[in-house]
Order: sequence, then C-alpha cells, then structure tokens
Amino acid sequence: MRKGDVQTLRRLNRRAILNQLRRGPLSRADLARATGLAKSAVSRLVEELLQEGLLEEGPAAPSPLGRPPTLLRLKPRARMALGAEVGVEGTVLVALDWQGQVAWSKEWAHAPEEDLHARIQRLLLEVRPHLQDALGLGITLPGVVAGRRLLLAPNLGWREVDLSPHLAALPLPVALENDAKASALSEVFLHGEQNLAYVVLSTGLGVGVVAEGRLLRGATGAFGEVGHWLGEGVSPCRCGRRGCLEVALGLETLVKRYRALGGTASTLEGLLAGARAGEEAALLALRQLGEALGRFLANLAVAYDPARVVVGGRVAELFPFLEASLRASLQAHAFLEAHRRLPVAPSVYGHLAPAVGGASLFLARFFELGGLWAEGPRRNGGEGYAEVAFGDRYGLGA
Ligand SMILES: [Zn+2]
Repeated sequence: MRKGDVQTLRRLNRRAILNQLRRGPLSRADLARATGLAKSAVSRLVEELLQEGLLEEGPAAPSPLGRPPTLLRLKPRARMALGAEVGVEGTVLVALDWQGQVAWSKEWAHAPEEDLHARIQRLLLEVRPHLQDALGLGITLPGVVAGRRLLLAPNLGWREVDLSPHLAALPLPVALENDAKASALSEVFLHGEQNLAYVVLSTGLGVGVVAEGRLLRGATGAFGEVGHWLGEGVSPCRCGRRGCLEVALGLETLVKRYRALGGTASTLEGLLAGARAGEEAALLALRQLGEALGRFLANLAVAYDPARVVVGGRVAELFPFLEASLRASLQAHAFLEAHRRLPVAPSVYGHLAPAVGGASLFLARFFELGGLWAEGPRRNGGEGYAEVAFGDRYGLGA
C-alpha cells in the first residue's frame, strides 16, 4: 500500500471510532463490532487516541461473566472552537467543545451607526485571549455570504463588504457563514440528521437547509433567502423591492398588528409580557402569526421536503403562544400527508444557535479528519471550509 493510502485508511478508521464514541461510551470489543475493524486495529488506534488526549477510560461496564470491559469515551473539552454571530443588534461569542457543549458565551450590543468593520474589530479584540485553545473561528452574518465577502445584508443596509483584510492577520482558521445556514449546522452537529430546515425569524426571515446530509449554499450563497420571496403585497422591503414575504411575517409587523388590535405596548418584549398576562390583543396577534407561519411551512415542505423543522431567532420565545395555530394551519394547508405531521420545534441552543453553528464548522471538520488536524488550514480542507459537512458526510447515524 502507498503511504498516502495508509494515511487515508488511518484517518477513516479513527473517524469511525470517534463517531461511534460520539453516541456514548463503548468498550474496545463494542468498537470492533460497530466499526467492523479487527480488535488489534481498534486497540492500536484507541491507544493513539488516548495518547493524544482525545479519549479517556471510564468505569468498567457491569458484566455477568468474568472481568468487566473498560469503557472508552470522548474526553470532555478535549477540543474547542469559537463561533460568533454578528447580528443586527449585537454580537454573541461562544466557545463550543467537541461534544456540542457551550463552554462559555459572551454578548454585547452594537450602536446602530457602527459599521461591519467596527463590529468585526471589536469581535477580534474579544477573541484574541482565547485563540490558543481553538481549532478555528466561525463568524456568522445576517446576509448573503460568499467566501470572505458579505454580498448583501438588507436589514443593516450593507452591500459588498470584503472582510479578508481583518481576517488575514488572525493566527487560526476563520470561516464566514450566513446566520440561518450556521444555525442549521448547529442542530446537525448535535443530532447528525440528513434533512432539516432551520427557520430564522426576527426582523428578517431566512432558512438554512440541510438536504441529504449537505448544507445547501447555492451558486452565489443566496440559498434560503426565503424572506425575499415576492408575494402580492406592495409594502416596501429593506432589500429595495416591494411585497417581500418577510415584510408580512417579520416581527416588526407583528408588533404593528398587535397595536392595531388594541395592544398597548410598542415593543416585542411588551407584546410577549402581554401574552404571558393573557392580554387578548397579544394572544390574537400571535395566533394570526402562527397561522401565517403554518402556511409558510406548508410551502417550505414542498420546496425543501425536510424531515424536521427547527424554529430560531426571536420567534422562538413566542413559540408557545403560536404553536397551536401553526400546527392547525400546517394540518389544513399541507400538500402531503407526511407534511401534516412535520415535526416543528424551537432550537436546542436558543439564541446562541448561529454562533454555535459557526464553531461547529471546525469541530465537524475535526471529526471528518479523524482528529488528524494539521497546523496549516489548507491541509484541513481549504481556507474557506466551504465543503465542511458534519464530521461525517452521512452524519452521526451512519
Ligand atoms: Zn426584500
């Protein structure tokens, strides 16, 4: 066998072992059975992974016969990555460990006049003390991202911003990603699924779609910008056109509707407090939004056919108040019988989801490489991490 083939095989076998252990502790014999590798090969690779500090030996499993086998597990916090969401109102920074646990997070608000360059500079100051321990830094933005450029962020009025001058100086791999796409990755990194749509609804509306195990980005990076689907409406959108879907479904419109129904508060927080106190105008406005979202999900189901929908962004806080009308509306409007029962739930990571997804880009890559992480980003699969999947092309279930 050539040297390159030996290395590839080693990487694949290590990846198989690490992916099995992501689901829970196993003995060496269990690993041999689950991966189809010889017991001697498993022992050798496990020894290697123990030496590198990636695995640890846990308590022995109970066994009715003879000596109980020692269980192996992934060592908590053995590897970490950083993720940041630079959003409309503020930035969220997280450190994510390789088992999907948030080690710490930090958040700060932006002055409206702060441009993207200023926001990125502040972020880089905040991350600098933590670079040593991180595999990479994934930054998410609320707009269309292509490589190291932001092409368009309608809700901030930003167009064609090149971030490479800021990022070139960093001593670790950096990737940029759209916030909804990164949020989809956060769920997939944790659960390893094949077909998922992640709907982000705050001021704007977008989706991140994982189809057949791959995150879809499209030809220009604009995939999933469903908030700018044109409808019959004539209200102006921040993208410069009229009648975009996000004008109808966005949470600014929700607050306007609530006031038109007699609501007294003028903010989303006020509306939410009203709903919690049983205020009729708030409950009705949220029921109406739920109905509209149900129709939207019926459309999404025919466009992308996900097995599960995750709801994130500010709308996640409102979810308990709109869930019933959303489900009734999806039932009424679904195209296929299967779509009527489409599972819909709020995000596991809540408002940290985009930042977690940014960090998961690197952790997923680490698993995909079987933990053989090179110093130079090029050897880990390219500077942009554009092809990064989920640690294993076929997800955790493979
Ligand atoms: Zn628009």
